Amino acid sequence: KLSDRLATVANYIPKGSRIADIGSDHAYLPCHMVKKGAVRYAIAGEVAEGPYQSALKQVQLEGLTKSIDVRKGDGLEVIQPGEVECITIAGMGGTLITSILEAGKDKLVNVERLILQPNVGAHAIRSWLCENNWRLVSESILKEDGKIYEVLVAQNGTGEDIKSDMQELELLFGPFLLKEKNDAFCEKWALEKTNWQRILNQLEQAEQNDSTLEKKREIENKLKMVEEVLS
Ligand code: SAM
Repeated sequence: KLSDRLATVANYIPKGSRIADIGSDHAYLPCHMVKKGAVRYAIAGEVAEGPYQSALKQVQLEGLTKSIDVRKGDGLEVIQPGEVECITIAGMGGTLITSILEAGKDKLVNVERLILQPNVGAHAIRSWLCENNWRLVSESILKEDGKIYEVLVAQNGTGEDIKSDMQELELLFGPFLLKEKNDAFCEKWALEKTNWQRILNQLEQAEQNDSTLEKKREIENKLKMVEEVLS
């Protein structure tokens, strides 16, 4: 059984598509999707030897070597343009996910959907999507084992009404999550707020120079936004 986090990612995968799961580790997500008959073909990409071996082992164990290709390589270099319609990248930081997408842009031409699950730093992904003609179409936030996760879903923007004008507030909190404001969302941002307040207190006690002043302004701005959102 998949974790709730990966099950949320799985729910957004279009039925019958071909997928690439980048940073697949044990290849649990591709194995689950192929076993269910929900996707017809999957690539499990891994950059690190240990997780790559785990993926190979899992796919063999489940007898899925015909439908799942386990490939070793950095980010999107394991796929050829046109091989898959959907890419999933889960369980990494938002900045790493963004750099994987940026480095592999040429592989995204025929990709229709991206499903991205950053552990932190979702705003970096939202900015990248806006700047690169991807339309954010859905978001989820959930809590599992004491951790809060976000899932972002984007469609290739070609020929469609591209949502490329996210405001600062939407980039940080997520336009869909902001509308829903569920319990996980409120808990995440209450925690962030406490964290920022602690940093602000530390900055106030530090020597005041241009750099501390700028950091203070930045955090005050974020605190203002989080207070507005949680009020
Ligand atoms: N996707 C799985 C999940 O969500 O449960 C595994 C997440 S695991 C925490 C992150 C995996 O990403 C690691 O196995 C790591 O080796 C892999 N990874 C990190 N950077 C990568 C890159 N540039 N290309 C491919 N895999 C990468």
